[in-house]
Amino acid sequence: MSAGGLHPSQPFPDAARETLADAQMRRNLRHAAGTIREKRLRAVAEVANWEDIRTQGASIKDTVLGNLAEHLLELEASVKRRGGQVHWARDAGEAQRLVADLVAAQGVSEVIKVKSISTDEIELNAALEARGIHATETDLAELIVQLAEDRPSHILVPAIHKNRAEIRELFRHKLGADLLTDDPAVLAEAARVYLREKFLTTKVAISGANFAIADTGTVCIVESEGNGRMCLTLPDVLISVMGIEKVLPSWADIAPFMQLLPRSSTAERMNPYTSFWSGITPGDGPQHFHLILLDNGRTDVLADKVGRETLRCIRCSACLNVCPVYERAGGHAYGSVYPGPIGAILTPQLLQLEDENANSLPWASSLCGACYDACPVKINIPEILIYLRGQITPHKTPNAESIAMKTAAWIFNEPHRFEGAIKLAHTGQGPLVQHGAIRALPGMLGGWTSSRNLPPFPKQSFRELWRRENEGEQ
Ligand code: SF4
Repeated sequence: MSAGGLHPSQPFPDAARETLADAQMRRNLRHAAGTIREKRLRAVAEVANWEDIRTQGASIKDTVLGNLAEHLLELEASVKRRGGQVHWARDAGEAQRLVADLVAAQGVSEVIKVKSISTDEIELNAALEARGIHATETDLAELIVQLAEDRPSHILVPAIHKNRAEIRELFRHKLGADLLTDDPAVLAEAARVYLREKFLTTKVAISGANFAIADTGTVCIVESEGNGRMCLTLPDVLISVMGIEKVLPSWADIAPFMQLLPRSSTAERMNPYTSFWSGITPGDGPQHFHLILLDNGRTDVLADKVGRETLRCIRCSACLNVCPVYERAGGHAYGSVYPGPIGAILTPQLLQLEDENANSLPWASSLCGACYDACPVKINIPEILIYLRGQITPHKTPNAESIAMKTAAWIFNEPHRFEGAIKLAHTGQGPLVQHGAIRALPGMLGGWTSSRNLPPFPKQSFRELWRRENEGEQ
């Protein structure tokens, strides 16, 4: 399945051009991102020491990343002590096999899923389907995406690009629901009726994890709908797939994240549902618990002194909702399960800067810095974007643009070259100037004038005028 996972199927500029042509998608996205953005600002403003909590969150994450192996081994021991089993997956293929084998061992062909971006990252649903196992998404937005055979466009709100009328049509066709309105409560009720039967009859559930506490072996999921809670408590077997960077040393360390995550993601003071489970409890909840620790490129990111900051991410999606590029280009343009600013730095790094399409993502930014301001764990996204550009550029095959930029750099480097170039441009621009402006440049330069006019090159440069005024030069 090329739809999910990390590998974009085309470079960002091509994909963005396609998405820009979808006016409905852009309208939906602008409305949704704008609404969440405003709410988040209000929720954050309520907390007087927000900056201190951000610093604390960043510092805890850095401590964990500085000693990740030790924390993971402690987590493994704690989970086992509580009756759970721990599995290590080097890459997506290993994780897929582990989950599919565990499900097959139960002799079932159906599982229910809690919304989880790490299982999207490893394209788990497609891998299970190939083994004859159908996975039903239970998060409303993930269910919408699954029924539409679409791709998520947002970390937190995967169906952010769809409006209510589209969802009503989808439910009518796929669920056979007789829906007279597209009222959100009516749509939610249709999904509830469909999912209730799944919750009560499915033996195996699969989840991700927001955090895992090393010293107690406790895994945590925060969510808004309660569907996750149903998956985490009703089935007999629970399989959780967790990126290795999600570990925290102890209970005390989770406190700042319980404030940072809800306010940054859904602009709520606290999540409606916060579930913690430690191994198994006889007679209560799932009686078999498997925790799969997923690397899939993360240790390579960890090894990079600048890039490792990316692993602080708690997937709140605040950076997406403030990003002017994401809002216009849409989530699908990023071609990866991680869209927006975090996707632009995480995806190419997880792929070890070896995927040409993913390597175009660090340029999907105006470097305005809004993502850095919004990030609850202070990831300096603009700095990492520039760093990654520096890593990728030397390996790029020279093209017309890079040659033009090198030439421009050579010209701008010497004042006399620059003056000569301006004079040359003034002499040669004649046929291009119409009604006092250059309206269309030829060839590759046409991009400059495709949406705006260029003022004509002046007869005299500022330097010439300055010399004339100050040095008496004629
Ligand atoms: S990079 Fe920061 S703002 Fe973006 S999703 Fe991760 S934690 Fe949230």
